[in-house]
Amino acid sequence: MRIVVIGGGASGVICAIHAKNDANEVIILEKNDKLLKKLLLTGNGRCNYMHDSYSLRDYHSQNMEYLEDFLSEKNIQDVSYFFDSIGVISKNKNGYIYPFSNQASTVRDALIREVERKGIVVNYDTVVKDIQKKGTQFSVDTGDRVLYCDKVVLATGSYAYPKTGSDGSGYPLLEAFGHTIIKPLPALVQLTSDFPYRKDWDGVRCDVILSLEEEGEEIAREEGEVQLTDYGVSGICTFNLSHYATRGLYENKKEVIKINFVPFIETLMTPWMDRYNKKNEGKNISELLQGFLNKKIVPIILKVCHIREDVSYEDLTNEEKLTLCHTLKGLSVPITGTKDYESCQVCNGGVSLKEIYSDTMESKLVDGLYITGELLDINGDCGGFNLTECWISGILAGRSLEEME
Ligand SMILES: Cc1cc2nc3c(=O)[nH]c(=O)nc-3n(C[C@H](O)[C@H](O)[C@H](O)COP(=O)(O)OP(=O)(O)OC[C@H]3O[C@@H](n4cnc5c(N)ncnc54)[C@H](O)[C@@H]3O)c2cc1C
Repeated sequence: MRIVVIGGGASGVICAIHAKNDANEVIILEKNDKLLKKLLLTGNGRCNYMHDSYSLRDYHSQNMEYLEDFLSEKNIQDVSYFFDSIGVISKNKNGYIYPFSNQASTVRDALIREVERKGIVVNYDTVVKDIQKKGTQFSVDTGDRVLYCDKVVLATGSYAYPKTGSDGSGYPLLEAFGHTIIKPLPALVQLTSDFPYRKDWDGVRCDVILSLEEEGEEIAREEGEVQLTDYGVSGICTFNLSHYATRGLYENKKEVIKINFVPFIETLMTPWMDRYNKKNEGKNISELLQGFLNKKIVPIILKVCHIREDVSYEDLTNEEKLTLCHTLKGLSVPITGTKDYESCQVCNGGVSLKEIYSDTMESKLVDGLYITGELLDINGDCGGFNLTECWISGILAGRSLEEME
C-alpha cells in the first residue's frame, strides 16, 4: 500500500512513523526544506510536548462529545510510551512536560531519526495543490508532478504562524471533498483593546484573576499572570481566554476583560480597605494603593475612578470608596480585536469532528482520506495540550493504516 502524508509537522510525522511497515510505502510531502519547523518554536524553544493530567476542560471544540473517546487514558498513555520508546526523557514543571534537555531539538531529532530508521521517504519543497480520487486511488498534484497512492493523510496544520509553513492550504483541499470547515480563528493569542490608559501600563506583569465577559455575562475566568501591553493584554491567562473572545467578536458580540488586581482579598473589599487604611495612617490614597499594586497601575485605577492622587482614603465619599473597590476587583478592559494568524499559536475551528471517525481519524465522507492535527476542530489551552492532540490523532491514523491488510 502506498500512503502519502501531506505535511511534515507534528501530527504528519508521528502518523508516518506509525503507518510505516514492510508492506506500506510511506511518503511525506512537505512544503519546507525541513521537517517539524514549528516544533522547534514550541514552549519557547523547550517544547512543552505533553501535560501530566488531562481533562475535557483543557480542550475546545464545537463537538466536545467526540473528545471523550479521543482523550482516553489509553490514547494518552500511548503517546507517553512512544516518546519513552524513542529515548526522550521528560521533566515535569508544574504539570507541563518538557524534554529533560530543555531543548525542542531533542524531540524533533528523535522523531527525525525514527523517520530515517523506518525508511520513510520525505519530499521537501513540495506543495500539494490538488487531490483527486478515482475509484480507490488518489492522485496528489504538486504542480510539477502527480503522485498516485492508496491512502492520503492530510496534516497541513491551520493558519497559525504561517512562517512555519502552515498557511491554511489544507482547508480548501478538504472543502473540495465536501468537508465542513468551522471558520478557523486565532487562539492562544494576544487581545487588543482601546482602553484609554493602555500606553501607561505597557510592560507591567501582575498576578490577577482575569475574567471574560460576553454581552455582559462572565463566560470564563483564569487566575495567574497577566502581561499588560500598549495594545492590550497578553500572557498565558489571556491566551487561554482568547478563543472565546475571537469567536465572540467574529459573531459581533461585545467582549470585555475584567481584571481583578486584588485576588488575595477574598472577603468583602470595602471593610478590608477600611482596615488596611487604619493600619496605614497618614498615607494618601496613591501611597496606600502602592502597598499592593504595581506603581504604574495606581494612577490608572485612580483616573478611572476620577479620584485625585493626593486625597486620603477617609476623605472619599462612600460612593467613591465603592467605585474604587469595585474597580480594583474588576477593571473593565473592552476587547476590540486580537493579534492575527501571524502571532497566534493555534486556531479555534477547523474540520468538523462530526465528519471524522474518532478511532482512526478517517474521513466519514471519503474512504482512505485521513485528517490529523490542528486541521481538526480541536484546540487546547496552554500546557502541552495542542501537541498532545497532534500526537494522538497522528498515532490513531498511523496505526489504523499500519494494521490494514
Ligand atoms: C510559537 C508557538 C508555540 C507553541 N508552543 C506549544 C507548546 O509548547 N505546546 C503545545 O502543545 N503546542 C504548542 N504550539 C502549538 C503546536 O505547535 C501546534 O498545535 C502543532 O505544531 C500543530 O501540528 P500540525 O501537525 O497539525 O501542523 P504543523 O506543525 O503546522 O505542520 C503542518 C505542516 O504542513 C506543511 N504544509 C502546509 N500546507 C502544505 C501543502 N499544501 N503541501 C505540503 N506541505 C504543507 C507545513 O509546511 C508544515 O510543516 C505552539 C505553536 C506556536 C506557533
